[in-house]
Amino acid sequence: MFRPFGQQRECMHTDITAAEKKDLLKRLLGGELPDEQGRFGPFGGCYAPETLIPALERLQQGIDQYLHDPEFIARFNNELNQWAGRPTSLTMARGLSNSWGADVYLKREDLAHTGAHKINNALGQALLAKKLGAKRVIAETGAGQHGVATAAACARVNIPCVVYMGAVDIERQAPNVQRMYQLGAEVITVQSGDRTLRAAINEAFRDWVSDPDGSYYLLGSAVGPHPYPYLVRELQAVIGREARSQMIDIAGNLPDAAIACVGGGSNAIGLFHGFLADEQVTLIGVEAGGRGTGPGEHSATLSSGRPGVLHGCYSMLLHDEQGQVQETHSVSAGLDYPGVGPEHALLHVIGRVTYTSATDEEALAALQECCALEGILPALESAHALAGARLWAEDNPGKRILIGLSGRGDKDMPVLRKVQGDGT
Ligand SMILES: *Cc1c(COP(=O)(O)O)cnc(C)c1O
Repeated sequence: MFRPFGQQRECMHTDITAAEKKDLLKRLLGGELPDEQGRFGPFGGCYAPETLIPALERLQQGIDQYLHDPEFIARFNNELNQWAGRPTSLTMARGLSNSWGADVYLKREDLAHTGAHKINNALGQALLAKKLGAKRVIAETGAGQHGVATAAACARVNIPCVVYMGAVDIERQAPNVQRMYQLGAEVITVQSGDRTLRAAINEAFRDWVSDPDGSYYLLGSAVGPHPYPYLVRELQAVIGREARSQMIDIAGNLPDAAIACVGGGSNAIGLFHGFLADEQVTLIGVEAGGRGTGPGEHSATLSSGRPGVLHGCYSMLLHDEQGQVQETHSVSAGLDYPGVGPEHALLHVIGRVTYTSATDEEALAALQECCALEGILPALESAHALAGARLWAEDNPGKRILIGLSGRGDKDMPVLRKVQGDGT
């Protein structure tokens, strides 16, 4: 079932008819996607080395056995509530509402344990790893947020954890490296390749290939070979489920628009899934527009990428005519990735979600506005969602807007100090 497929025919919007788009959305809502091959329409699949196929098949079996098992779900929910701080609040943002001429609500993933939505996924997968009898967990991290969440979740479920991190990132993200050590993780410095996230992913895969039976690979976003994009989405869907019922309780209605930032796409897919079936809710994903539109200046994959294969999955990708993956830039490390999850690629081509981008500058301005008017310091990633929401509110006055505030900005102090200067 999970053989690597050959190179896929390029799929662009124009290849899919209106009837096919409608049918794909229906199948997605009906739970028929991803299909047996792990495809979300033309996207997704499993482009993994032969040596990993048995491990991926075992993961699929584990998902089939546990992910919808009432006992496993009860354990997961209990841990989410008692340990990870769920449900997270929904905050009516009065200051932003006044400033934008809209009714703005914030889904507060910044209040989740370790400071972002990433804990939902890390905890769920750590519990699954334990069930599958893994002896250790392998993860990779760029900015360190996923590494910290994984280290915490592994300590909680009592399983050793190894985190691969590029030498450049280790230097840039020293506080998060320290947090991982404190939480008992072993952090391995990657000196190969670009010595950042991409090299760390390669090293982590290499480790997994050498011990696919004893190790569990804990992937941090809705990307990678099937079944990861599906697994991560299911674990993050709690964001959208909570937000939907909180909107009804607190605002008395569904939002007109739900807006989230998109790196690999896990917090956004988790939020959007609560509203996919609600046709009246406009869904908007905001990518990192960086400092310009040229190659290497941004990481707006859906806005300007083309289909291709990266890290085991066929999706949209920033790469050149020769298939060379482009350098990316964003002021926020969590959005600085040349790929995007396959389900977002599908939602993009069928038009259910609109993808836009916010520049570094717009995100920084939104961050400052949120601090000043709400007393909330958002992560730089989340500030992209705020910036995208602000632009949407300008064109659509008086609407109810739900924003996924994916994490808190304490981790961004070094970057903020650098871009804003030391002037305090
Ligand atoms: C990692 C991260 C992101 C980006 O990851 P997604 O998988 O796209 O959600 C966004 N916000 C925060 C706070 C993060 O830590």
